[in-house]
Amino acid sequence: MPERLGPPLAAPLFRRVAIVGLGLIGSSIIRAARHLGLADTLVAIDRDEGVVARVRELNLADEATTELAGVRGADFVILCVPVGACGAVAQALRPHLLAGCIVSDVGSVKGSVVAQVQPHLPEGVAFVPAHPVAGTEHSGPDAGFATLFHNRWCILTPPEGTDEAAIDRVRAFWAALGSNVEVMSAQHHDLVLAITSHVPHLIAYNIVGTAADLETVTQSEVIKFSAGGFRDFTRIAASDPTMWRDVFLHNKDAVLEMLGRLNEDIALLARAIRWGEGDKLFDLFTRTRAIRRGIISSGQETAEPDFGRRREVEPDKASETGPEPRPGA
Ligand code: NAP
Repeated sequence: MPERLGPPLAAPLFRRVAIVGLGLIGSSIIRAARHLGLADTLVAIDRDEGVVARVRELNLADEATTELAGVRGADFVILCVPVGACGAVAQALRPHLLAGCIVSDVGSVKGSVVAQVQPHLPEGVAFVPAHPVAGTEHSGPDAGFATLFHNRWCILTPPEGTDEAAIDRVRAFWAALGSNVEVMSAQHHDLVLAITSHVPHLIAYNIVGTAADLETVTQSEVIKFSAGGFRDFTRIAASDPTMWRDVFLHNKDAVLEMLGRLNEDIALLARAIRWGEGDKLFDLFTRTRAIRRGIISSGQETAEPDFGRRREVEPDKASETGPEPRPGA
């Protein structure tokens, strides 16, 4: 179970924070920011009337609207929309952004988001891109929970020349949400995340798709015997189709580079199996087991059965704690 959030801060970090896109990530940020008192005013903006109505019902924000003009007067704006939508949203926001405002995002790809967003920001507005490396396979405002980012990494990829004070303020915001913050270049981020998150998702989508297409194994057998490993892939393969389509289209080069490496390694494994080279398989599986243990001991995963994801959450804490987040996305 993720730990509970700490007490509210003595003073808010920002005057007016606007979250654009109240899905899993946007609604988790706003829940945590509300609980911790990170802003005098929290504004929720979503293009969908139904989402805005739900935000009001859940009492997640001080203001909830479908109008991008809601960002007016904000000193911190966070884009929580799919990677492919960031440029258009930034362009539409432009007339409403004031000098001194910091714009950020949460996109799972950084190089493309920087290229899409930066040209639209007016003079005096700093851009500090961010990627919280935390998520679940669920979407929408009901899927969010305040502890999602607790003890997870948040990577900042400020373009060269970004105002240091703006970087520090965004760092303080994510640290308040419980994240460990690291700064790196967008290009490096995209390469690292290609192998730690994007390619694993592609493999999960692929393996579940292949199993669904098999003619010699029935659908009911796939479900019945899924505990053999397949089940864990199905959870990842249930992730949001729009988000992941955009991730692959916008991190094309790094994903293709990593897929090339993976194909070579899979060919070597196939060869080892064909020629009965058990020592090669054993050595690899021993190395990979050590990697899993390293992830557990660093607190990025639990060693509990079912990854601790099946545990019940007390109803009154559900919006704060939610299910066990998975570290990658
Ligand atoms: P989500 O739950 O599907 O929410 C996305 C929100 O963006 C929805 O409110 C959606 O509105 C809105 N939206 C979609 N297309 C839009 C457009 N063209 N213009 C304006 N708004 C649009 O997705 P999420 O999981 O929160 O992901 C949001 C961002 O976080 C993505 O960039 C993703 O890469 C990043 N991220 C996700 C995870 C994860 O595990 N899910 C982890 C880290 C980072 P509609 O409902 O109307 O489409």
